[in-house]
Amino acid sequence: MFAFALQGIFRFLNLALIPLILLSVAGLLYYFQPLLVSHTFQRLPWLPHIAIGFACAIAWQFGRSRLVYLGLILFAVIAPINPHWPFSEYMLQGHVSFVILTICWLMLSKDKGFSPNSLIVSGSILAALALTSAYLLPLTNTHTLVQHWLLTPSTAWLFRLWPALYQWLTASELLLILLSSVIALFSSIWRVNHSQIALLLAWLSYLFVMTHTGNDVKVLMVTTLAIIIAFSVIKDSFTMAFKDELTGIPSRRALMQKVETLGRKFTLVMSDIDHFKKFNDSYGHDVGDEVLKLVASKLSKVTGGGKAFRFGGEEFVMLFPGQTPEQVLPHIEAIRMLIADYDIALRTQPRPAKAPKSKPRLPAKDKIVKVTTSFGIAQRTKTHSEFEDVMKQADIALYSAKKAGRNCVKVAKQ
Ligand code: GH3
Ligand code: MG
Ligand code: MG
Repeated sequence: MFAFALQGIFRFLNLALIPLILLSVAGLLYYFQPLLVSHTFQRLPWLPHIAIGFACAIAWQFGRSRLVYLGLILFAVIAPINPHWPFSEYMLQGHVSFVILTICWLMLSKDKGFSPNSLIVSGSILAALALTSAYLLPLTNTHTLVQHWLLTPSTAWLFRLWPALYQWLTASELLLILLSSVIALFSSIWRVNHSQIALLLAWLSYLFVMTHTGNDVKVLMVTTLAIIIAFSVIKDSFTMAFKDELTGIPSRRALMQKVETLGRKFTLVMSDIDHFKKFNDSYGHDVGDEVLKLVASKLSKVTGGGKAFRFGGEEFVMLFPGQTPEQVLPHIEAIRMLIADYDIALRTQPRPAKAPKSKPRLPAKDKIVKVTTSFGIAQRTKTHSEFEDVMKQADIALYSAKKAGRNCVKVAKQ
């Protein structure tokens, strides 16, 4: 559990790097060049709107409905600034609650696309959140029972700790923010992806600008978040294109891109699961898929500076830049043994096509099975300098590993 959370945090920091840099640049600009920020937005008052419109258009193109709604929320954040904007007065009432509630809803939901059904559902949820924020939540502040039992005990300590909070928030808004922080924390650790990061940063930035009265900081934050939304969509699409859908490790396309960056010295390893067809035939394609995922996850943890790719089917390629087959061999032996020794627990339950109702169902039982993998290693040499040649050599070595009885590693005779 702890390791899982730690892994989530590392993954989060890795994915959030660029958005965090963008936000830091915006922060530095605001603190050190406030006049520049102010003049820019005075001269180009529609810049944030254009940025949000652009971000929403990209998110819409890629079916990222959550980010489109986030874009609309950004419009709502800056709408009260402009007195000519329709509804700007209404937006002030329950504004904080509406933004926080909507971001929480987006953090907990999934991208549902833009079919008429999902548009109706999302529109209804947004309307319900807006009504709750504008009418229901303000009521809780005046309702003495709720005040006495819920709001005062849960928020008084924070108001006492930071009295300035009174000027920005009501007790129900503060409670809502406290609850949303739990949602933000857990959803960003458990579901780390670029959309989730954009939502989390929007939530954090909103809390930050709420404590600032100036309009420049709001406009700058909204513009930066619009850029982060556009970045998230583009980055997610790239990641998807270079990641194998089933196993989650880099795909063949990623391998071909990596090849462009390889130097003169590298070692390539081809691996292939043994008798996988038989495995599929015995246990079914779904179980086969699970085993593929398992093998991929083991291969992707290969030590010695190697990187694993799914080449296709049940074949994988590992690249070791700057290494010789002798250096790579112990790491491949280690991973071969790791896979061969791994107990795969299959949930086996007799499932006749039409189970008689009278018979009690037998409890599920775990059956332990194993898979093995064969490996072929080759390196780039003067005679085999093209990538395709090295692949071919590794394939020949793999074939000899299969012929030698499988579950072994062979190095090409180059
Ligand atoms: P060998 O030891 O000689 O490699 O035998 P094999 O049965 O593994 O080799 P073969 O190439 O004949 O069969 C590969 C099988 O891998 C065929 C197909 O059923 C299975 N396979 C390929 N891709 C997938 C996949 O994505 N999911 C599943 N479940 N099976 C796959
Ligand atoms: Mg094969
Ligand atoms: Mg095979």
